Amino acid sequence: MPGTLFIVTAPSGAGKTTLVSGLLERDPLVRLSVSYTTRAPRTGEVNGQHYHFIDVQGFRALRDKGEFLEWAEVHSNYYGTSKRWLEEQIRAGRDILLEIDWQGAQQVRKVFPKAVGVFILPPSVEELERRLRGRGTDSEDVISRRVLGARGEMRHVAEFDYVIINENLPAAIEDLVAVVRASRLRYANQEARQPAFFHYLEQD
Ligand code: 5GP
Repeated sequence: MPGTLFIVTAPSGAGKTTLVSGLLERDPLVRLSVSYTTRAPRTGEVNGQHYHFIDVQGFRALRDKGEFLEWAEVHSNYYGTSKRWLEEQIRAGRDILLEIDWQGAQQVRKVFPKAVGVFILPPSVEELERRLRGRGTDSEDVISRRVLGARGEMRHVAEFDYVIINENLPAAIEDLVAVVRASRLRYANQEARQPAFFHYLEQD
């Protein structure tokens, strides 16, 4: 049976990456899609593991060949999800998680309407602002631009099936684990897992 596609989206400062790592540790059946990006690697990021790092020309070539299921420009860099890898995995029955922005989520939903969307919110605007201040080296101008940007992203929350408020990290990981487990128990998924049993129940 085909696997489930999970889309996890959040504004920067909501703690999405840490939450997703927590889920992957707890649930080894979920695989993370590795996106392509034109942004430079950050310290500690490994090519092929965190992202496939690629230059703008290479990205555009892949895009024009139709290699991306979705792509978007986020903070002046390109990001895209490999179509071939994802389709192979879903066909093989694997559960896949995409950590992408709301623009990508909209495109994926058109192709996979059954994808399960999860939006991560910070506990409050004040807390978000505190987190976006980072090490305190940025100007007020830069910070308020980041807060406004995050607000723009958060306005898409209603397009998602589940909302997790990341106030306490262990509790938020628990919530994400619960969403994944509950999604696997949906009627259609259980029926696909046990076709003979469900068929028997339908007979007179
Ligand atoms: P970062 O550069 O901080 O890793 O990611 C910046 C933003 O790009 C995040 O919101 C992240 O979810 C989003 N992003 C990462 N990969 C993809 C992708 O393949 N497609 C889209 N649409 N967004 C992505």
